[in-house]
Amino acid sequence: MIRVYNFSPGPSMLPLEVLQQASQGLINYQNSGMGVAEFSHRSAMFGDILQACIKNFKTLLNIPEHYHVLFTQGGAVAQNALVPMNLLKNQSLAQYGITGHWSQKSYEEAQRYASFAKIECVHQAPRDINLAHWQVNEQAAYLHLCSNETVDGIQLFDVPTTGVPIVADMSSDILSRPIKVENYGVIYGGAQKNIGISGLTFLIVRDDLLGRHLDICPQIFQWEQMAKHQSLLNTPSTFAIYIAHLVFEHWLNLGGMPYIEKNNQEKAKMLYDCIDQSALYHNDVEKSHRSHMNVVFRLADESLNQAFLDQAKMHQLEGLKGHKQVGGMRASIYNAMPLEGVAKLIDYMKAFEKNGGTSF
Ligand SMILES: *Cc1c(COP(=O)(O)O)cnc(C)c1O
Repeated sequence: MIRVYNFSPGPSMLPLEVLQQASQGLINYQNSGMGVAEFSHRSAMFGDILQACIKNFKTLLNIPEHYHVLFTQGGAVAQNALVPMNLLKNQSLAQYGITGHWSQKSYEEAQRYASFAKIECVHQAPRDINLAHWQVNEQAAYLHLCSNETVDGIQLFDVPTTGVPIVADMSSDILSRPIKVENYGVIYGGAQKNIGISGLTFLIVRDDLLGRHLDICPQIFQWEQMAKHQSLLNTPSTFAIYIAHLVFEHWLNLGGMPYIEKNNQEKAKMLYDCIDQSALYHNDVEKSHRSHMNVVFRLADESLNQAFLDQAKMHQLEGLKGHKQVGGMRASIYNAMPLEGVAKLIDYMKAFEKNGGTSF
């Protein structure tokens, strides 16, 4: 079997070693005669997987003791509703930084809670992402942002200086580089980019922010309850947690965040250099905010778009089509995309340009 290089924004590539281990575990987990998706979430075997998964996540990201790691379902999009529901008790204001597609969606969903608190945008200027220009109100219950705009290829490598708890949608750049977790009140996202497979949502919540839910918040969605029951309020996505556990272990064995960050910086630099040196491809994102995870680019002659995608596919390069709202191309180069995959994409892009879009 030829494994293609899959540049899809998510679900996306997983490390081959993890897939091999998981395929074994799916049939016969540690010689128990059962597959990992078949035994009870209340069993000791699953308990061990869950505990190891949380421990490895905490080790990898250096998550301090006063934060809870929670696993739930519904994706990052569900948290767009659950963040305000979990944090607005007795509060009158929440603020949102808007830097692209996903933070815009978070802001719009939060408007549903406008009868509980004012939902305000602190910033909206895609071409000026300067965090120093964000007008954060120190009375706000929280400041929401998206650390990596998956659709727009914009990444925030820093956070605004504020005492207000920062709530970050990190779906597409969690574990891509070391971060200071202490800078955040809540970090959340879907697992299907850097952590594992879809169907799993991760949350990292500072302990003092538990218990601030509105009375209308269903119990199953209360972070406080989830923390109390160690993410086992009901049946969690056990197989997805198992995969996350294997992924965490995989990166820890290779050297953890320093190893991951070095690889990601190298991959992103190679690809942006290729784009910047070309006459056919261009990327308009301000350089200091170019995403290391989702590299967006356009062809100077957009009538070549389909030929670019078709021929890429013939060269085992998949998933390069940009988001339907922005068009163009997007190469998602998450942790599991090897350097060779990016090198192969660059060779292809250069050859495509040289041949003026004709078949080669
Ligand atoms: C992928 C993505 C989402 C959507 O996540 P779901 O798991 O589909 O709900 C939200 N925000 C960001 C930043 C993403 O990259």
